[in-house]
Amino acid sequence: MKDSSDVLVTAYIGLGSNLDNPVAQIKSARAAIALLEGVSELTFSSLYHSLPMGPQDQPDYINAALSVETYLTPIALLRSLQAIETIQGRVRKDERWGARTLDLDILLYGDEEIDVPDLMVPHTGISERSFVLYPLFEIAPQLIIPGKGIIADLVAKCPLDGLKQMV
Ligand code: ATP
Ligand code: MG
Ligand code: MG
Repeated sequence: MKDSSDVLVTAYIGLGSNLDNPVAQIKSARAAIALLEGVSELTFSSLYHSLPMGPQDQPDYINAALSVETYLTPIALLRSLQAIETIQGRVRKDERWGARTLDLDILLYGDEEIDVPDLMVPHTGISERSFVLYPLFEIAPQLIIPGKGIIADLVAKCPLDGLKQMV
């Protein structure tokens, strides 16, 4: 299967970490993404501090959002992001939403809606998770999220749930 196409697409990536110096994890993931072949960085959000979703017996999170231009197909981008997670010490456990050194999720891939076993785009929860939606709104305030609507409307309906933008 081809990893790249001739079409340049704008994609949005959500970053999260709550283990082993989360701020450094997010910064090094940003650098690693920018070094991927066929990917160039457009805009990186502020860092945000958020409370854990799911299991509560874990540290708070640092989150951010990043937009890129890419020639990679959606699946090739997913595999590249998973490789960066692994390099940065992500250990996959059975527990859902447990602590992790790094989580890289594809939030949007152009205006595509993708639903295959390994990849759902727009990302599940994009419109309900404050730690995803607010950083995304910061870097793309005019965005229309396929199947969900105008991002400003989604933000207006999304409680902060303890999210704090870091200065
Ligand atoms: P959530 O997806 O609810 O944020 P998570 O990020 O903790 O949870 P992971 O353990 O990182 O979940 O990934 C579980 C699976 O989700 C991966 O194996 C991947 O194939 C799948 N997945 C589906 N859609 C996406 C997407 N848009 N971005 C990243 N992974 C995705
Ligand atoms: Mg996630
Ligand atoms: Mg993930």
